[in-house]
Amino acid sequence: MKISARPPWLRKQKRLTPEVMRTRRTIDGLGLHTVCESARCPNLGECYACGNATFLILGDQCTRGCAFCAVEHGHPQPPDREEGRKIADYVRSKGIRYAVLTSVTRDDLPDGGAGHFVRVVEDLKKLVPSLQIELLVPDFAGRRDMIEWVVGLPIEVFAHNVETVEEQYQRVRSGADYRRSLDVLNTAAQSRSGRSGKSGCPRIKTGVMVGLGETEEQLHRLFSDLAAVPVEILTIGQYLQPSKFNAPVHRYYNPDEYQLLREKAVACGIRHIVAGPYVRSSYLAEQVHRDSLQKNV
Ligand code: SF4
Repeated sequence: MKISARPPWLRKQKRLTPEVMRTRRTIDGLGLHTVCESARCPNLGECYACGNATFLILGDQCTRGCAFCAVEHGHPQPPDREEGRKIADYVRSKGIRYAVLTSVTRDDLPDGGAGHFVRVVEDLKKLVPSLQIELLVPDFAGRRDMIEWVVGLPIEVFAHNVETVEEQYQRVRSGADYRRSLDVLNTAAQSRSGRSGKSGCPRIKTGVMVGLGETEEQLHRLFSDLAAVPVEILTIGQYLQPSKFNAPVHRYYNPDEYQLLREKAVACGIRHIVAGPYVRSSYLAEQVHRDSLQKNV
């Protein structure tokens, strides 16, 4: 299906200002990767200008090839044991207080990369103890022991993106499984509640893209499933085809429709929702986390 050119509210310019170029040089100089670059995020200019970035750990080659994602699919390198130290160098140089870390999916590693997440967070907390951390993890092939290991880290937010409704998985996320992704969130929520005195931390978060061909009814089922976890923070944003090799956009939601989506998600029982054309799960993550605390979500 061919869709018309982007509507006016989706024509953000990627401004390569001197601040953006400085951030890019610092990240490249440290040998780090970001999902901002690898996934061709439309918010890169805005986030990099403030020194914000979402670090892509475990390399920039993914073992899966989701149709919506621009991250390269290939044979990854062994994990970089210095990655935590490099991210610490970056956050110190930029005065960052809140860091978001994600990764490619590493189906080639026996632990799915969970051990590397643990190492990176431990190194970061040793080097920058005051740093607040949000993790956006892959599904670790559904291994609950790995999910519990990672949820036990001193982090503010545990995030795993379901990305889309169950009915779109085969088409745009063929290596993943909707029920498995829900199970990742469920396992994280249960494991957290089981920790005496630490209930409520970390927050459980997920992200959804719209415009891939989902129906209203399917979205309603998705929101209900997420509310049952319970997910505390939900982000909803427009899917934008990152290249001609990726899945096409089925439709563009106009800015008013995000308010309706928000109301639907609230009606299903999700308490903190951030929705808008350019919302991504890591977009303004520090502020989103702070707002969720203020709302006592
Ligand atoms: S929204 Fe997230 S992925 Fe996009 S540029 Fe900002 S930090 Fe990077």
